Amino acid sequence: MTILLSTLNARYTHASLGLRYLLANMGELRERTKIQEFVIGAKTTEMVERILAHQPRIVGFGVYIWNVEETNKLVAMLKRVAPHIVVVLGGPEVSHETGEQDIVRQADYVITGWGDVTFPKLCGEILNGPKPLMKVHAGHQPPMAELAMPYSLYTDDDIKNRTIYVEASRGCPFKCEFCLSALDKTAWPFNVDTFLAEMEGLHARGARLFKFVDRTFNLNIKTSLRIMRFFLDKLEANPDDPVYAHFELVPDHLPDALKEGIAKFPAGALQFEIGIQSFNPEVQTLVSRKQDNQKAADNIRWLCDHSTAHMHVDLIAGLPGETVESFAAGFNKLWALGPHEIQFGILKRLRGTPIIRHTEPFGLVFDPHPPYTILANKDIDFPTMQRLVRFARYWDLVANSGRFTHTVPVLLGEAPFENFMAFADWLYANTDATHRIALDRLAGMVQRWLAHTGMAAEDAARLLARDFAPAKAKAQAVAPQRQARHLAA
Ligand code: SF4
Repeated sequence: MTILLSTLNARYTHASLGLRYLLANMGELRERTKIQEFVIGAKTTEMVERILAHQPRIVGFGVYIWNVEETNKLVAMLKRVAPHIVVVLGGPEVSHETGEQDIVRQADYVITGWGDVTFPKLCGEILNGPKPLMKVHAGHQPPMAELAMPYSLYTDDDIKNRTIYVEASRGCPFKCEFCLSALDKTAWPFNVDTFLAEMEGLHARGARLFKFVDRTFNLNIKTSLRIMRFFLDKLEANPDDPVYAHFELVPDHLPDALKEGIAKFPAGALQFEIGIQSFNPEVQTLVSRKQDNQKAADNIRWLCDHSTAHMHVDLIAGLPGETVESFAAGFNKLWALGPHEIQFGILKRLRGTPIIRHTEPFGLVFDPHPPYTILANKDIDFPTMQRLVRFARYWDLVANSGRFTHTVPVLLGEAPFENFMAFADWLYANTDATHRIALDRLAGMVQRWLAHTGMAAEDAARLLARDFAPAKAKAQAVAPQRQARHLAA
């Protein structure tokens, strides 16, 4: 074995699609290439030991915002104990600002952008000469038809125990300045027949949980309908054998044909992740996000009212021009539309994104360490930003977790943002913690808060008891547990 492909996934259940693409496209080097995945939090020495056990000549690391610090340590130790091993980096985190990164200094080579065909070419040059002169190589983007599909590289164990990531297209035509996909300027579809043949193969091997990483699944409605038809056929052919598919949608593009298709799916089969990011037109203009807010709101409401899809909608706090008040108004508007989850994101300065053009006029201050979260801007000072960060954390624990589906609407009342912010401030003051709050302790705190705001103690206890009744535990067979809790409520 000569070449090892490695990365640190955020969780064991996340099987790396990127590494499998690289392996599928290794050409004549494929037989001499292997994948070794790790999970963040693993001991650096143990990872180095596992890598060395393969006796590789080249190790390629996939570097992402969630693993760059640990990969940096791993590369440093690997180069100390085995300096003869050639280290090649790739992935979004090292595709920009390469001159400023410690991990790049430690490595031998870096591929920016698409690595599918450039990585095997670089490996061939390293192994057979002539030795590549440049350290940083811009990834070549081949026609989509020339890319080998990676799906047969998911093992039976992956299919049984992990999320299967798939992509029907790459890239995004929109230009939201906080997003790395803004640099793509367009989306490139894979041939839909080829793609669906691969999905057929995965399904036949037992895959039932498909997560589409396409940035905009509903860009080409004809293709979206073909893909949905594929899953509907499976469900209709065997209703007792559920399938679960996750798609990212742009919210203001939902023609009737797509709605009709969506409405046919049974409960627990679809999850939609929808980016709203901000309902504030001035903020949208500032960050070059084109969005018809009325259409987006109408479509989210339609999906909540007429489909059985699990709805996860994203907002971002800390964008230039967004005050706490305007963010609160957007949050309340979104909550009123009825999604199961609101992902309360805090702005991050992703390497390469154009958002930095607002740094001076809006006083953007970012944490210099990953994930480069915003710390303050001219409208939101540091202490207030910290309150928003805690809001986001507690919102995940209480609302998004699906543990308190009966209690949350009461807790939020008529002013969801304001009431939850008051709860978050109180919870922090009384626990001094944002992590490691056991569920029973959290439930007790929620009950105390309700009593604190004037609810009779026995009513608060009764309300909480509804969320923890044993019957509530019935989970849908395929959907991830959190989503199943929302759908069972
Ligand atoms: S935020 Fe979504 S729509 Fe905007 S550029 Fe990124 S992927 Fe595209």
